[in-house]
Amino acid sequence: MNSASAPVKQVINLLDYDRKGLEAFFSEIGEKPFRAVQLIKWIYQLGVNDFDQMTNLSKSLRAYLNEHCTISTPDIVLEQKSTDGTHKWLLQMGCGNRVETVFIPESGRGTLCVSSQVGCSLACTFCSTAQQGFNRNLSVAEIIGQVKVAQNRLGDKAKVTNVVMMGMGEPLLNFNNVVAAMNLMMDDFAYGLSKRRVTVSTSGIVPAMYRLTEVCDVSLAVSLHAVNDDLRDELVPINKKYPLKELLAACKDNVAGSPRRRITFEYVMLDGVNDSVQEARALIKLLKDVPSKINLIPFNPFPNTLYRCSSPEAIERFRAVLHRAGMVTTVRKTRGEDIDAACGQLVGKVADKSRRHLRLQKQDGERAA
Ligand code: SAH
Repeated sequence: MNSASAPVKQVINLLDYDRKGLEAFFSEIGEKPFRAVQLIKWIYQLGVNDFDQMTNLSKSLRAYLNEHCTISTPDIVLEQKSTDGTHKWLLQMGCGNRVETVFIPESGRGTLCVSSQVGCSLACTFCSTAQQGFNRNLSVAEIIGQVKVAQNRLGDKAKVTNVVMMGMGEPLLNFNNVVAAMNLMMDDFAYGLSKRRVTVSTSGIVPAMYRLTEVCDVSLAVSLHAVNDDLRDELVPINKKYPLKELLAACKDNVAGSPRRRITFEYVMLDGVNDSVQEARALIKLLKDVPSKINLIPFNPFPNTLYRCSSPEAIERFRAVLHRAGMVTTVRKTRGEDIDAACGQLVGKVADKSRRHLRLQKQDGERAA
């Protein structure tokens, strides 16, 4: 038969649905919505992917699922383990797209750093993911699949207790898929993580921050990195569209009405760029009426970057100024350095189609000439 005339069989990946989505799916095929909970338990709690083993589903339903559906997670291309226990997986997302997922074990918890996009469109100047440009959004299955793959590989040795949407990409620019995946992370019948243990990190997509506050109760981290618009425009260019004043208003809206809730502000420490004592003081002023925690991130270098990490003394000085003013401040420990698993170092290996990349290549060529 000529392939052009062959009917295309649509196979549904059930990892693409959160509980509500699955309930709608089952209703559509004439099944009771409670099948959603049964299926979710099999998939996420018991790690069973074979419909024939799902013994509380009727035989006819199993046959239907076998014919029309799959439970399909991303393939592992490479698995690395750091001397400090950090794991990194390079995952194949189809069409040559690859992303990275990192597991960071700490005493009493295990944090999984999950990617939301292949590449990133935001061009933050100190981030290596930005260099590859934007390729595409990940599907719900590809996002929740990262948790499933990691938990499966870790087995009984470790448990994912926390998820941070801090891998590759800007999660709030892939809003619906990220929210559905986080619903599954927090669903008691799936991974059952508490809302305090699921964190979205954003560079500050202000309208999406308001929407998130309305529809999904998770913790919010904001990549601040600068205390004035001039510098933030340079480091996090989306600031030109959503400047600090608007960003901080959206932050306040997120915590309003929840007295115990705080925004985590991430602040990458760049030598001679944003790490002065004056800037620490300006940060205190800037955040004076936003319930906040500050997370100072030592800059992680990558090939061709012009930035350097602040000295340990400068970081300590900056931290001490904030601490004296009563701000809850932590300095992020860099983990997984030997396997390039630290913040801002995740690159995956994608067929880079971005114009930005071509421009960089051209510049390199011109410089070499
Ligand atoms: N796009 C989202 C999430 C991905 S980045 C965001 O901007 O928040 C996760 C965190 O790592 C962000 O705070 C980001 O600014 C920081 N980061 C990026 N590159 C880094 C680098 N080279 N060194 C240290 N932190 C970096």
